[in-house]
Amino acid sequence: MSSLTQSTGDRIENPCELSLVIPAFNEAGNLPALLARVVPLLDRLSKDWELIFVDDGSSDDTFAHIAAAHVKDARIRCVSFSRNFGKEIAIAAGLDAARGDAVVIMDADLQHPPEMIEKFMELWREGYDVVYGQRIDRHTDSWARRAFTAIFYHLFASFGETPLPDGAGDFRLLDRKAVNALRLMGERARFSKGLYAWIGFKSVGVPFEVSDRITGSSKFGFSRLISFAFDGIASFSTVPLRVWTYIGALVSGFALVMAASVVINTLIYGIDVPGYATIVVSITFFAGIQLLSLGIIGEYIGRIFAEVKRRPLYLVGQRIGFDEAEEQRRSSRSLPRT
Ligand code: UDP
Ligand code: MG
Repeated sequence: MSSLTQSTGDRIENPCELSLVIPAFNEAGNLPALLARVVPLLDRLSKDWELIFVDDGSSDDTFAHIAAAHVKDARIRCVSFSRNFGKEIAIAAGLDAARGDAVVIMDADLQHPPEMIEKFMELWREGYDVVYGQRIDRHTDSWARRAFTAIFYHLFASFGETPLPDGAGDFRLLDRKAVNALRLMGERARFSKGLYAWIGFKSVGVPFEVSDRITGSSKFGFSRLISFAFDGIASFSTVPLRVWTYIGALVSGFALVMAASVVINTLIYGIDVPGYATIVVSITFFAGIQLLSLGIIGEYIGRIFAEVKRRPLYLVGQRIGFDEAEEQRRSSRSLPRT
């Protein structure tokens, strides 16, 4: 049994009722408004809550803002990465650090209305293990991003082993059981949406409208989205690998038929010299197909390489508000395994 499995099975010291996990990367401009809205809400919803920021290597004042907030209210804690590791890993670190019976994940830019947490908790108390916010429209996204998202969901549904619920993202409440299940997954190329779907548990969606970002702009540019989408498909499906077997079989079959027709043609009509265009086109076409298939295999090998290196998932530069001994023991994922 790996240290990770053991650590997630451990009982949590000083558990609380509700943890709110917020990944933040250069969100200093949003933090005052976020805290003003979230802290009174948490006070109203639970007597025993904690707010965990994961500062994902921000280069602005995000960390200083959180540190100042912690001085005023010790229930606000922070895990600060040594550099930017990306939102998916920030969420993993937040789940490692959270002590709540229920853990809510939310963006720092107030695009996820915090007031929804009340409804999430109601459903959780009714017995749901996972309550996810389901975006009902994507007006805050550009048309290109919407089209891309639609194609991605379609591909994932036809390739992946677990379909993704439409519009479900990271804004969600997870029961301790689901958090522990997610913490068991040590993969480096993390595609949270797929992981949420993979773990199962009794789930329900709550529709919500995405608000506009209050300040700053989205950190997910087009190229980052594409690599994110490929991560998603590559982590949950081997169809892109297997498809080349079928394409190869098809092309070979086609080539056999071609060969037979060339032989018969030659026997009947003699040697036919022209055909330069056909040869050049078919050589370049099949060279392209071969490179494409090699590229796809390469993508998977790259991912295998990243996994076998077994580097820690993230490195913490600083923690605020955690008992060091407890943290060392619990966040085995941030430390090299023995
Ligand atoms: N984020 C992060 N690390 C990153 C990029 C983003 O922790 O490398 C956080 C960001 O601070 C925000 C959330 O992830 O709280 C969502 O980011 P963003 O608003 O840029 O994404 P979008 O809303 O466009 O999906
Ligand atoms: Mg956003």
